[in-house]
Amino acid sequence: HSGFVAIVGRPNVGKSTFLNRVIGQKVAIMSNVAQTTRNKIQGIYTTNSEQIVFIDTPGIFKPSSKLDEFMVNSAISTLNEVDAVLFMVNAQETRGAGDNYIIDRLKDIHKPVYLVINKIDQIHPDKLLSVLEQYKDALEWKEVYPISALQGNNVDEFLSQLSKDL
Ligand code: GDP
Ligand code: MG
Repeated sequence: HSGFVAIVGRPNVGKSTFLNRVIGQKVAIMSNVAQTTRNKIQGIYTTNSEQIVFIDTPGIFKPSSKLDEFMVNSAISTLNEVDAVLFMVNAQETRGAGDNYIIDRLKDIHKPVYLVINKIDQIHPDKLLSVLEQYKDALEWKEVYPISALQGNNVDEFLSQLSKDL
């Protein structure tokens, strides 16, 4: 199955690293997406039968100026055009205001949201449980995937799950 997926998360959680890992070349399913979203495409995952188009959406943070507000509204309008959202967090960090702001915005969009806990190569497995604990009730997650975007752990498993769901 094919579709569009927006990636959201605080700065430095690993969004670009993830995109670099899954990046492909061909784009076949562009017809039904707005020009604005088309321009934001950052990575395409391609198999023989599927394409997942990823859109990096870094601009969701608490706005403190008119310009901020414009950027945040633009990012949120992208979320309304995709089929699913990937919310990425850093397993090394505790849940903070930046995460909570994004989670609150995600509550309004009524799309499947995947919680992706990145940088698991940097933590002790016991720590993962406490990260899961912090997020498990924050939203009705479609699925939860601990991964390492840098080393590739669990990335293929996540992508094949996503392909099935889309
Ligand atoms: P973005 O701001 O969310 O796009 O984050 P980046 O992809 O730019 O990553 C920020 C930093 O985290 C970079 O130094 C990456 O190399 C590092 N990073 C990203 N993913 C991982 C990971 O899975 N494990 C480790 N150890 N470092 C990572
Ligand atoms: Mg980035």
